[in-house]
Amino acid sequence: MENPCKLKTETRNYSQPSRASLEVVGAPEYMMGWHLNNLCNFQCEYCFCSKDTLSREHPDCGKYSQQHIAKCFDDTGKMWRIHMSGGETFLYPRFVELAEVLTEKHYISINTNLSTPNVYEFADVIPPEKVLTINAALHIMERNKRKGGQEKYIDKFLYLQDKGFDIRLEYVTYPPLFHRLVKDIEHFRSQGIKVINLKIFRGTYRGKLYPESYTNDEKLVINSYAVDTREISILEERKVNFFGMLCSAGKKSFRLDVSGQLTRCATLRKEYGNFFTGKYYFGESPVPCPVKECGCSYEGMRLVQNQKGSAFSIFKERVLEEYFRIRPLISRKVLGIVNKEGGRVFNGESL
Ligand code: SF4
Ligand code: SF4
Repeated sequence: MENPCKLKTETRNYSQPSRASLEVVGAPEYMMGWHLNNLCNFQCEYCFCSKDTLSREHPDCGKYSQQHIAKCFDDTGKMWRIHMSGGETFLYPRFVELAEVLTEKHYISINTNLSTPNVYEFADVIPPEKVLTINAALHIMERNKRKGGQEKYIDKFLYLQDKGFDIRLEYVTYPPLFHRLVKDIEHFRSQGIKVINLKIFRGTYRGKLYPESYTNDEKLVINSYAVDTREISILEERKVNFFGMLCSAGKKSFRLDVSGQLTRCATLRKEYGNFFTGKYYFGESPVPCPVKECGCSYEGMRLVQNQKGSAFSIFKERVLEEYFRIRPLISRKVLGIVNKEGGRVFNGESL
């Protein structure tokens, strides 16, 4: 049995909470979206990452000690919300220790599939008030491939919920799941799970683009069961285009990759240096968003101001974005030529 101190699992039936924005209230103003690892023990059909990426860990994962990483955050002199995603976050080496040192001075939030036994240790050691949210994605197709998959999910979820963590079950509105979605939600609610939210599927299925291709009936179902108003904004208003508007990403919010590279957000490539080596900078003021689709629309909704940038500043951000987008391609091309000519190429691992 996975759970060393199993909770009572008597049926606890919760009614659906009223709809509201699930954005955390009172979170620190600085946010780091840290993609901390690649490895995942699931292979969801709708995952943004390729199977190849998910099947092995990034060579830089775990390169820096937990203490070094915490010090990098402390050295900024700011208090952070560190939002962790992967891969599967709990597979990060000594993940609970990492969470422990980070929550000494900062707050964390986590995306997880809740599949690893160290979830219980996390629940026992980490103070719930330092964890802003746990987004516990259900991934029912993967769960059903495993013996007791659903029961193990429910057990871990309730363990965290009963300890006082703000935890939400997230259910992706993937088209092949629509026939069972309502039944699944009712079942998990009857097991005592308080907050169940729908995540709108954004992508292509059988040649159709979503969310644009949901039928009216499917939209009605989403509308009745989605709890987070931000998901409804994505579905109904396609609230993902902030082109030209001033956005604080790059000043108060960043994306951090496994190796420590800072970029403006999960959508953009504009670089700000390496956070783990201490050679980086932060923008001084909000600058315009240079793209027509914000892939991290929760960030867009939170960080965009109701003000457009000047034509010159929009042009500048577009040029910079294009530069950072093509630079790795050019480097790869140049390195390829050097390689063919027999030159010695430093590829980050060996000379
Ligand atoms: S659990 Fe998350 S990271 Fe892993 S395959 Fe599924 S969607 Fe991708
Ligand atoms: S609106 Fe979205 S894509 Fe644009 S800068 Fe802000 S977070 Fe990035």
